[in-house]
Amino acid sequence: MPTTEETQLRLAGIPNLAVSASTPLSHYTRFGIGGPADLFAETRDEGAFMAAIAAARESSTAVMVTGGGTNLIVSDAGFRGLVVRFADDTLRADEDRVTAGAGAVLQDLVDFANHRGLKGLETLAGIPGWVGAAVYGNAGAYGHSISERVAAVRFFEGSTVRVFDHAQCEFAYRESIFKRHKDWIIFSAELRMEAGGAVELERTSADILKVRNEKFPPTMKCAGSIFKNFLWKELPPQVAGLIPANVVREGKVPAAWFLEQVGAKGMKLGGIQVADYHANLIYNAGEGTARELCAVIAELKGRVRERFGIEVEEEVQYVG
Ligand SMILES: Cc1cc2nc3c(=O)[nH]c(=O)nc-3n(C[C@H](O)[C@H](O)[C@H](O)COP(=O)(O)OP(=O)(O)OC[C@H]3O[C@@H](n4cnc5c(N)ncnc54)[C@H](O)[C@@H]3O)c2cc1C
Repeated sequence: MPTTEETQLRLAGIPNLAVSASTPLSHYTRFGIGGPADLFAETRDEGAFMAAIAAARESSTAVMVTGGGTNLIVSDAGFRGLVVRFADDTLRADEDRVTAGAGAVLQDLVDFANHRGLKGLETLAGIPGWVGAAVYGNAGAYGHSISERVAAVRFFEGSTVRVFDHAQCEFAYRESIFKRHKDWIIFSAELRMEAGGAVELERTSADILKVRNEKFPPTMKCAGSIFKNFLWKELPPQVAGLIPANVVREGKVPAAWFLEQVGAKGMKLGGIQVADYHANLIYNAGEGTARELCAVIAELKGRVRERFGIEVEEEVQYVG
C-alpha cells in the first residue's frame, strides 16, 4: 500500500486541490476538538474533488467528507486517511429557483434569498455550517427544514454525478438518503422558493438570529443540540404518557426534557460541560477532549435508558 507521503504526492498532482498533511482537525471543528488528519484536502472544483476521491480509493486510503465542522466530534487520535471538503460556495438565483453550492455557508444562502424577496429559508437563520451538510442532515429550526425547499440535489455517487429530485432524497426529520449513503457527496442543491417581501424576511431572520445568539453564543465551542428530539407519536405509550402537554411542540418532544429529568444540566467532566440553561447543549469550556465529550454523552444516554427505557440518539456525527 502506498505511504501517506505517496498519496499526498498523488493528490498534489491534482489541479485546483489544496492538500496538507498532519492537519489538526481541531481547527476545522466548532468544538475545537480533534487530532490530526493524515491528509486534508479542499477544492471548489467538482473534477478535482472526484479525482481526489479516485486517488484515495486507488491507494486504499479512507475518506471522510466534512463541511463547516459544526456538527462533528473528531476523536483525539484524529483521522487515519483523507479528510476532504467540497467548498464551492456559488449562489445563483433564477426567478423562484436558487442554486447553492454545497460549500456555501447556510447563513449566506438565507441572506441571499431574503435579500431577493425569496421566501422559504428565513427561519433557518443562524444554523451554522454549509449547505451540503444542511441537505445531508435536513437541517431545520422553528418548525421548518431545508428539505421543504429542496427541488433537486446534484451529487457524486462514487463513480458518476447524479441528480435526485425531492422525493428521491427521502427526507425525514434530520434525515435524508445521503445519511444512509455516506459515500454520496452533495455538490449542489436547487431550491424552489416563494415570493415574499425582502424587508419582512430579513426582519424574521434577524429576530431569530438574536434569540439564537443568546442561546448559542457564536464563540461557544459546541455542536448545537447533541441529541435528536423525539417524535411524540414514535415514543412508547408509557413514556409518551409522562410528557407534560406543554413540552410537546409541533409533534416533537425535546431530548432536553429527558436529559433534564436525569440531571444533565450543569454536568462537568474535565473541560466539557453541559449548559446549565439547556440540558441538550454540551460545550467545550476550554481544553476539553473527545474522550471526555464521549464519556459525557455515554453517561447521559445511559441515564435516560435506565430511567425511561429509550435511547437518545446523537444528531452529531463522529469522525475517527
Ligand atoms: C450552535 C449550533 C446550533 C445549531 N443549531 C442547529 C439547528 O437549529 N438545526 C439543525 O438542524 N442543526 C443545528 N446545528 C447543527 C449543524 O449546524 C448542522 O448539522 C449543519 O448542517 C452542519 O453543517 P456543517 O457544514 O458544519 O457540517 P459538518 O459538521 O462538517 O458535517 C456534518 C455531516 O455532514 C456530512 N457532509 C458534509 N458535507 C457534505 C456534503 N457535501 N455531502 C454529503 N455529506 C456531507 C459530513 O460527512 C458529516 O457527516 C447547530 C450547530 C451549532 C454549532
